[in-house]
Amino acid sequence: MRRARVVVVGAGVVGLSSAVCVAEALPFCSVTLLAEKFSPHTTSDGAAGILFPAEFPGTRNLFKLFLKTIILHPLFFLLFSSWQIFKDASADKKPFWSELVIGFRFMTDSELKRFPDHKFGQAFTTIKCECSSYLPWLEKRFRRAGGQVEQRKANSLQELSNSYDVIVNCSGLGSKLLVGDNELHPIRGQVLKVEAPWLHHFIKDADRKTYIYPGMHCVTIGGTRQEGDWRLEVDEGDTKSILERFERAGGLCSYGLWVR
Ligand SMILES: Cc1cc2nc3c(=O)[nH]c(=O)nc-3n(C[C@H](O)[C@H](O)[C@H](O)COP(=O)(O)OP(=O)(O)OC[C@H]3O[C@@H](n4cnc5c(N)ncnc54)[C@H](O)[C@@H]3O)c2cc1C
Repeated sequence: MRRARVVVVGAGVVGLSSAVCVAEALPFCSVTLLAEKFSPHTTSDGAAGILFPAEFPGTRNLFKLFLKTIILHPLFFLLFSSWQIFKDASADKKPFWSELVIGFRFMTDSELKRFPDHKFGQAFTTIKCECSSYLPWLEKRFRRAGGQVEQRKANSLQELSNSYDVIVNCSGLGSKLLVGDNELHPIRGQVLKVEAPWLHHFIKDADRKTYIYPGMHCVTIGGTRQEGDWRLEVDEGDTKSILERFERAGGLCSYGLWVR
């Protein structure tokens, strides 16, 4: 009997995770991972990888499972304590995920003193995924499970249906072309990577544009959220504006950071 042929399109964190699950769960299928770009050239490689539980069915169990899993993979998943700070006092102070993350509490007045423009803050511990190490490891695991890898751009899912019985679409923004999903749009994020191994806590402004995320290899300081902007190249104006934002907020030194 012919083996069922499965193709997973996309080698970001979603595609690689899906490909590993299919290849390991269905060893009697032939599984191909097809992508135009692989690590370190996917959006997933650039992500800070912080897990904030989002509201969708199953979130609670999924987040609990993640917390158990990170113990098994200390090279890719870390627990990070953080402050999320708000300028707007009317924001949802105790969100549904406060029961899922570890040790949720409101920031104390003395902690908030460091951020004079902000009205309140949340302190908690959550998970960070180190995608730049995690993706190559997932790819190795996929190959070990017998998966095949093909690097090329697909022009449509229709074109793939001649060669495969099942198509798993994990193409991220590529779905705009692949399935003609016109509701998809990019949100461009530019960040700076700096060396500061002494930093272990992240700070995130609820504006979602300003943050410091320490990681295993470097600290990410951000950023931008530019809706509808497809540019991939570095914008020097954005670099300047990120640095200026931190200067206005007390200077990078107040966060334990220096630009060399
Ligand atoms: C600066 C920044 C910071 C971020 N921080 C976080 C964070 O802290 N936490 C968080 O949860 N999220 C964060 N994100 C969002 C996160 O990066 C994305 O949601 C996630 O990486 C999407 O993963 P993906 O696998 O769906 O897509 P991608 O990583 O974009 O992978 C898409 C894959 O599909 C392939 N592909 C596309 N079209 C085709 C085609 N036609 N043919 C063949 N292959 C194709 C690509 O080559 C690629 O391999 C951040 C994003 C940015 C930009």
